[in-house]
Amino acid sequence: MSIMEIFETMAYGPAPEASSLALAWIKEHEPFQLFINNEWTAPAAESYFESSNPATGKGLTKVAAADKADVDKAVSAARKAFPSWSKTPGHVRARYLYAIARHIQKHARLLAVLESLDNGKTIRETRDLDIPLVARHFYYHAGWAQLMESELPGYQPVGVVGQIIPWNFPLLMLAWKIAPALAMGNTVVLKPARYTSLTALKFAEIMQEVGLPAGVVNIVTGEASKAGEALVNHPDIDKIAFTGSTEVGRSIRKATAGSGKKLSLELGGKSPFIVFDDADLDSVVEGVVDAIWFNQGQVCCAGSRLLVQENIAERLINKLRARMENLRIGDPLDKTMDIGAIVSPGQRQEIQNLVDIGVKEGAQLWQPSTACPADGSFFPPTLFTNVAPASTLAQVEIFGPVLVTLTFRTPAEAVEIANNTRYGLAASVWSDNINLALDIAPKLKAGSVWINSTNLFDAACGFGGYRESGYGREGGKEGLYEYVKPAWLAAHHGRSGGVKAATHAGEQMEASNGNGAVHTDALEEFSATDAQDGYGFPPIDRTPKLFIGGKQARPDSGYSLTITGPGGRVLGEVGEGNRKDIRNAVEAAHKASGWGGASAHNRAQILYYIAENLGAREAEFARRIVEQTARSYADALNEVRTSLSRLFSYAAWTDKFEGSVHLPPLRGAVLAMKEPIGVLGLACPDDYPLLGFVSLVAPAIAMGNTVVAIPSPRAPLSATDCYQVFETSDVPAGVINIVTGEREALSKVLAEHHDVNSMWYFGSAEGSKAVELASISNMKRTWVNYGRGRNWLDRVQGEGEEFLREATQVKNIWVPYGE
Ligand code: NAD
Ligand code: MN
Repeated sequence: MSIMEIFETMAYGPAPEASSLALAWIKEHEPFQLFINNEWTAPAAESYFESSNPATGKGLTKVAAADKADVDKAVSAARKAFPSWSKTPGHVRARYLYAIARHIQKHARLLAVLESLDNGKTIRETRDLDIPLVARHFYYHAGWAQLMESELPGYQPVGVVGQIIPWNFPLLMLAWKIAPALAMGNTVVLKPARYTSLTALKFAEIMQEVGLPAGVVNIVTGEASKAGEALVNHPDIDKIAFTGSTEVGRSIRKATAGSGKKLSLELGGKSPFIVFDDADLDSVVEGVVDAIWFNQGQVCCAGSRLLVQENIAERLINKLRARMENLRIGDPLDKTMDIGAIVSPGQRQEIQNLVDIGVKEGAQLWQPSTACPADGSFFPPTLFTNVAPASTLAQVEIFGPVLVTLTFRTPAEAVEIANNTRYGLAASVWSDNINLALDIAPKLKAGSVWINSTNLFDAACGFGGYRESGYGREGGKEGLYEYVKPAWLAAHHGRSGGVKAATHAGEQMEASNGNGAVHTDALEEFSATDAQDGYGFPPIDRTPKLFIGGKQARPDSGYSLTITGPGGRVLGEVGEGNRKDIRNAVEAAHKASGWGGASAHNRAQILYYIAENLGAREAEFARRIVEQTARSYADALNEVRTSLSRLFSYAAWTDKFEGSVHLPPLRGAVLAMKEPIGVLGLACPDDYPLLGFVSLVAPAIAMGNTVVAIPSPRAPLSATDCYQVFETSDVPAGVINIVTGEREALSKVLAEHHDVNSMWYFGSAEGSKAVELASISNMKRTWVNYGRGRNWLDRVQGEGEEFLREATQVKNIWVPYGE
């Protein structure tokens, strides 16, 4: 082609990135072994699988397939390395992380080409996005290693972490997992996705180059059903960090339930991309390209649902089609390509199947006229219009370059459609009216909201989901807490130190504070003076009902439970709540969701008011504790006063547990807002009938959640005595709901309920497991004690940030600015 011809046509010529270096590196290492204890180790079963290039369909190389024996070996290497790595000073760990970041940059070209070859994504993306972000994650976390001691006092590493990642951003997902784990002093066994092991193996080589101590990072390649499951089920793993599909996330929650393994899940999505009629449509079109055709749409937070205001829908769709005609699809190593290959023929087929279903369900399909390469797993950019909100296309994650369009008329309708999904990973909002955009952002149920932008990521800004998109965050300070645990917990019963589950609450109390001894003399003293009123009359019978929607409600069953104190003395009766009562309570809690929008100042006022009204009756509440526990009066009074102090603490925290503003490398700001989780189920501990109850309810409502609490079944009267306190303290109806009854059965109903967003459970080890298992119905968050005690009187164990973090989730709102 002559220069004149090129000027005439303005066509792109081929501009391939050389692959010779990468192919030579592959040849050198063939077949790839497992990376265990800093050594290349052959798999015990001598089994290997093929990794191929999706753009050609041809095999690239052979990679070891680990099985249980290999995973055992890797876990014991990590276990052996843990004591010394966890005690390595933060500054030293920072030096290693810094060295890793530098080495990533030195090998950037090779890593980018390897990633393109193995995954099929374009070199433009691996070179400009994946690899630079990988380096950024290690730099950022080198900083947290350096600062851990001063910025996370009272926290320790979790231990040995098993990490499982998907194939869509192979090295980037590795970085998101390994960088914070090492920064916080953990050791790691990581399993890459089967289709994309190569950059993880190059990363292993970098571990050798920087001289990381043996066993700190181990990489076991292999199949989900062997290596993956062995890792999840390994008894000597302290935490599993998983990124992948919601379906597999669910199975991992099930497999680990009750084991005490810490768990973070980054799952699927069906994120809305909302366009208002005052948006700049040319920017919107480029935004859509980045939202759904970036990485062939194989992005968990892809803007796969285009919600466009009805009056501009036609104009936008026409512009979009014109732009789609210009998208270039082909050889991922060609620097001028916009779209590469789908990771495997199987994934390509799944996309095709969903597209076929969409057509069958009546949606209108449109694809550009440009041809897809015939070899390899390519799929054309695809646009659907005339999509019904409840159809498969609008609800199911396609994980491919397929955009579905829906329309809306008003902002309220946009929010409603946007939130009409089981997921909640991300959302984009496009409008030139910043007031509108910032009004919509907090209303969207999603972990990241991008204003007039999309698919922006940075190590400083946490990323993660709401609802069935999972729990836990990666990046930012909040991401660090996934890799640490409170030091007191580690000291008392670290997994590695051998967990001794308390069998019943009495033991818990003794184990945790030595206050469990029954003071029988106090009981006798008390019954002599107080049980009768001095004139020989019996006390007036009082049967507390349930507390639902601000009203005292009779239990549905019509039954009540007899509450006896120590020595078998009958203290009274409480309602026996059942499934129906829980449902009513959850509904009331939902209706009260406006509480989350009340000002922090307002919520603080109400917490202070509760304390004021409770304080006025402290002697009565203390006597009630004596009755139920036979502890001394002084001891009981101390519990009441500690409860008052706790209410004051959370009143204080309401307007002090604030978000932050991040400074990623972009012109703009990222607002990290702490939001309430929604409706919380609370199963209260047996030790400390009042303090245990207050310690859960207060942080939950302080942060704007509404609650359904199950008081201690052994000593529920301190909680039911609070009804009157709440009624006189301006607590809005439905913010606090209380259902007395059998803890295990009621907890299970709460944990299974689809409108409960998180479940806290402080009871037995078996009950904890049951809650974790029941939570998989809607992948709700859980916080359980595995039957272990906690000293509720102690401020370190009984209140503070651990509770506040469990009561909130972070939403990152990205606000780029400038013309
Ligand atoms: P996947 O769930 O099939 O596999 C993910 C990883 O888990 C792979 O390494 C796989 O080998 C392993 N695995 C599968 N079954 C397992 C089991 N039973 N036990 C242990 N390990 C098992 O997902 P995928 O197809 O690789 O990735 C696509 C999915 O990942 C999409 O749903 C996407 O939305 C999600 N994703 C989420 C994020 C996020 O941050 N939220 C990021 C990327 C991808
Ligand atoms: Mn591959």
